[in-house]
Amino acid sequence: MMEFEIMHHMKRKHSGGEGEIALKVDISKAYDRVDWNYLKHRMSSMGMKQWDVGRIKAHFLENNAKAIITVPLPQREVKNMVVWVESTDGEGWKKIWRLALPHIFKIFLWRFCTNTIPVINRLSSKGVNLSDTCPMCSMDAEHLLHVFFNYQFASQCWGHMGVSYDMQNVTSASEWLINKLGTCMNAELIKIVEVLWGVWFRRNRRVWDDKIVSHVIAMDWSVKVVIDWQKAQ
Ligand SMILES: [Zn+2]
Repeated sequence: MMEFEIMHHMKRKHSGGEGEIALKVDISKAYDRVDWNYLKHRMSSMGMKQWDVGRIKAHFLENNAKAIITVPLPQREVKNMVVWVESTDGEGWKKIWRLALPHIFKIFLWRFCTNTIPVINRLSSKGVNLSDTCPMCSMDAEHLLHVFFNYQFASQCWGHMGVSYDMQNVTSASEWLINKLGTCMNAELIKIVEVLWGVWFRRNRRVWDDKIVSHVIAMDWSVKVVIDWQKAQ
């Protein structure tokens, strides 16, 4: 997967001086298949001022390895970017990490806080050529506030879980959640994440599988994933 990302970048970048490659890993699909130690290893080797040629050759096809090695590396310090594994910066992340939640929920929460949930609105802003209209109701652009709070289905989910928030003056769902991380007790946070996760699950079932899931099923499923995980601990 990372190899494809790198190759895609290289095909597009034929000239210019200093360049950077950001490795984008689709965690929602691959979270249980990523070898975190490998990823960390790879990222830290990229943080060095030269490629680890032996390692690149060991992991990539010959032509790809050659192409990778020709990319100049930045000569300044590069911050280790595997922030979701063991960064010690940021109280918010520490708090996420301590929550009694499955790993995939923590990743989701972190993505929400960093506004990296791949809603259509965000993909459009990254140059992906899509109509940014909400695929569920066509009433608004598909942005976080719409999907997770304003859209009628989201309201039903919040209601079903017995929590409600006044979002009228909220302009950024990510900032709202970061604020909640700093102020809420864990039990409330877990409930918030269960709602958000269930809404996203339902949205993806609709968009990718063309299946319609009721808000009750979406919420029950989300709660069940958390309970099953907690039982297994
Ligand atoms: Zn909508």
